[in-house]
Amino acid sequence: ATPTAVMVATGVGAKHGILIKGGDALEKAKQIRYVIFDKTGTLTQGKAQVTNTKLYNGMETGEFLTLIASAEAGSEHPLAKAIVDYAYHHLFFDNISASQDEKRLAKEARSSKWLLEAQEFSALPGKGVQCFINAKKMLVGNRKLLNENRVAIPEEAENFLVGLEESSKTGILVAYDDVLVGVLGVSDPLKREAAIVIEGLRKMGAEPVMITGDNWRTARAVAKELNIQDVRAEVMPAGKANAVHSFQKDGSIVAMVGDGINDSPALAAADVGMAIGAGTDIAIEAADYVLMRNNLEEVITAIDLSRKTFRRIR
Ligand code: ADP
Ligand code: MG
Repeated sequence: ATPTAVMVATGVGAKHGILIKGGDALEKAKQIRYVIFDKTGTLTQGKAQVTNTKLYNGMETGEFLTLIASAEAGSEHPLAKAIVDYAYHHLFFDNISASQDEKRLAKEARSSKWLLEAQEFSALPGKGVQCFINAKKMLVGNRKLLNENRVAIPEEAENFLVGLEESSKTGILVAYDDVLVGVLGVSDPLKREAAIVIEGLRKMGAEPVMITGDNWRTARAVAKELNIQDVRAEVMPAGKANAVHSFQKDGSIVAMVGDGINDSPALAAADVGMAIGAGTDIAIEAADYVLMRNNLEEVITAIDLSRKTFRRIR
């Protein structure tokens, strides 16, 4: 295609909410063989809601809510936002439904003074967050995070966790001072168009794959809902990039669609990296395409556009 054709395609893309960062990726998109989707915030709405809580070891509700929100306030992860909102609602507006202006509430929640100071905060992609509150170590995340910190998970809590995971929910463990004090169940609905897009890609000759840092049980439950056969779970961020490389081995062109910091190595590794516009800046920077409308149909539109633009020189 001529430089003019590329310019025109870029303009058409922009009109559909697709930001194309280079002619190279525009050309490659026409022959995408695998489309690897991140789960949380990509296939799901990233509007997670806390649906279940269980407290252990004499932890009190008020203290628990304050602790988890204070620990998660520094994280950009969709799960973190859900936890902060949940804590805020329950501490201050127990009777107000979640259909309130969520953005305003979340913003308020993040700037308020009700949070405790979290020291030495670190976000651990694929695992959760860690910090110190009142000089005691606070952990919010998955089994891996707790195992690495040698926090025991009692059988009762493990059973509760398994139940959540089998119903497509993500279970989040909370430890304070090296003791498990609570488990949260988070439900994140699928994007409305997700199943249609998966089906559409298959019809176009591109095989959909789901890759996630979330646990196997939740991942399988979600993949089943979407009719995705190839699933990889409990994958760390570097593992996502490795997975991209393994799909590229036979020369296949691989697209990665993701939204998070944890997806950025894979977005960079892919032949065509597509970042969800509502995602984190780091993901957007690593990608070749930005899907500004946060709608997965843009993946199909992007491939179509490339095929139309480069049809004649094949
Ligand atoms: P995905 O690949 O589906 O986007 P991530 O790699 O972002 O998932 O996260 C994987 C897992 O790590 C989550 O399912 C959760 O258990 C844990 N996790 C990551 N970030 C957080 C956080 N801020 N709070 C709690 N748990 C987290
Ligand atoms: Mg994600």
